[in-house]
Amino acid sequence: MTTQTDLSTYDLIIDGETVAADSGEYFETVNPATEDAFARVARARKPDVDRAVSAANAAAAEWSSMPPQERGRLLNNLAEQIRAQQESLALLETRDNGKPLSHGRADVETCARYFEYYAGVADKVHGDSIPLTDGYVDYTVREPLGVTAQIIPWNLPTNILGRSVAPALATGNTAVVKPAEQTPLTAVEIGELAAEVGIPDGVLNVVPGFGGEAGASLSEHPDVDGVSFTGSVPTGIEVGKAAVENVTNVHLELGGKSPNVVWPDADIDSAVDSTMTGIFANAGQVCSAGSRLVIHEDIKTEFLDVLTDRTERMTIDSGETDPDMGPLVSEEQFEKVTNYLEIGRAEAGEPIIGGDTLGRDGYFVEPTVFDGVDNDMRIAQEEIFGPVLSVIEFSTEAEAMEIANDTEYGLVAGIHTQNMGRAHRFARDVQAGQVYINEWFAGGEETPFGGFKKSGFGREKGLAAVDAYTQVKNICADITPN
Ligand code: NAD
Repeated sequence: MTTQTDLSTYDLIIDGETVAADSGEYFETVNPATEDAFARVARARKPDVDRAVSAANAAAAEWSSMPPQERGRLLNNLAEQIRAQQESLALLETRDNGKPLSHGRADVETCARYFEYYAGVADKVHGDSIPLTDGYVDYTVREPLGVTAQIIPWNLPTNILGRSVAPALATGNTAVVKPAEQTPLTAVEIGELAAEVGIPDGVLNVVPGFGGEAGASLSEHPDVDGVSFTGSVPTGIEVGKAAVENVTNVHLELGGKSPNVVWPDADIDSAVDSTMTGIFANAGQVCSAGSRLVIHEDIKTEFLDVLTDRTERMTIDSGETDPDMGPLVSEEQFEKVTNYLEIGRAEAGEPIIGGDTLGRDGYFVEPTVFDGVDNDMRIAQEEIFGPVLSVIEFSTEAEAMEIANDTEYGLVAGIHTQNMGRAHRFARDVQAGQVYINEWFAGGEETPFGGFKKSGFGREKGLAAVDAYTQVKNICADITPN
């Protein structure tokens, strides 16, 4: 990173070098708390993506044949460096994305943990031995895919870079990362750190740019062997089609409209906290947000009283002051969420709290709760990706289950109850890739993550990511004496 005029400049990372885009073009990234541009970033297009893929290709043989414990050591070194830069990376993330500083710090720590976790996995990627009839020996090995592409969204840029890149590198793949155009900065910094800790040139390349340019060039590139896409459903479909044209491995981590079911026997204090974390963390811009509160009729009034009281006391300000909630990421997202506030008013009436912007510079909207929502309303079916909670009432277990499953998504689902039989029946029957019991966002780097239905396919996190980033080779030998 260099400073020119009053904007910091961020370039591409290709083959271990910091380089300008072939076209020499830059785009600006905006601080959503002030609406001011604060950095300029090289704008990668097809020629740059070609160069990055070619560098990743050239590095693939050395990286995949390196003893896995050495790969692991390098990833551990990267984890340490990321951790050592926690404060500066967190501040950068906060300026780029708007999130509260403590959330930025947590995302950097999560990123470091992914590299640390998969550093430990690197030398434990092994196959099976399969018993066949007498006279044969059969075993499998897991081999890397080769060059992998990671297309990253803007909501959790540092976190998801770690989630997608660490298992790719640990299993012997090389990587070309396309961060979101709204939030590209920490990816460039982490690319520089990778070179500093001795990860060989070409193993981790970073090509910031726009989706229709750098992103499309990467997902349709014939020399890319695996694509990890995290983002919206429409883009996921485009990326999936482009990858399939080349018969390239692809996994899609997409959106959600996740139900948070609360029963009268829940610990109300903790269920309210967990509901608020689920919808207001990162200003609701989380794929696994608990955006539908599915609440039992007997507890609804009491629960909403506590919820609105606590919501009223939330601090909303620039992420740099570390409030409870920062601004939305961009003007586009601000327009989208404020439009949903109007849709919500038309469908469900005035929200019981919030519903407005802060009326100052920056993309701030109030934490908002709509009561009296029917599950077929748009605010119950569509991913708003903002701090907007839809409250839907139920009376029976069957009804709660039906509401929970009645969207096109299936990313996560949660239940708050002291009745463990009921909780596990819910976990059994809900169509979601992960289930939280008595806490939202439960789990960690070790737990597999991914969607059912339109929330995607394939799994990241935990050991499940090893499957996503390797291909199985079966080897069968006839050992009968000749
Ligand atoms: P998006 O789909 O607009 O963009 C995601 C990424 O794709 C960006 O890097 C973008 O530049 C790139 N892109 C855009 N068009 C492209 C194209 N034609 N070809 C290739 N790449 C292209 O999503 P977003 O708005 O950045 O992120 C929000 C969405 O991401 C939400 O739907 C959210 O639920 C989802 N998300 C899912 C997960 C998960 O793990 N399931 C995690 C975080 C976010």
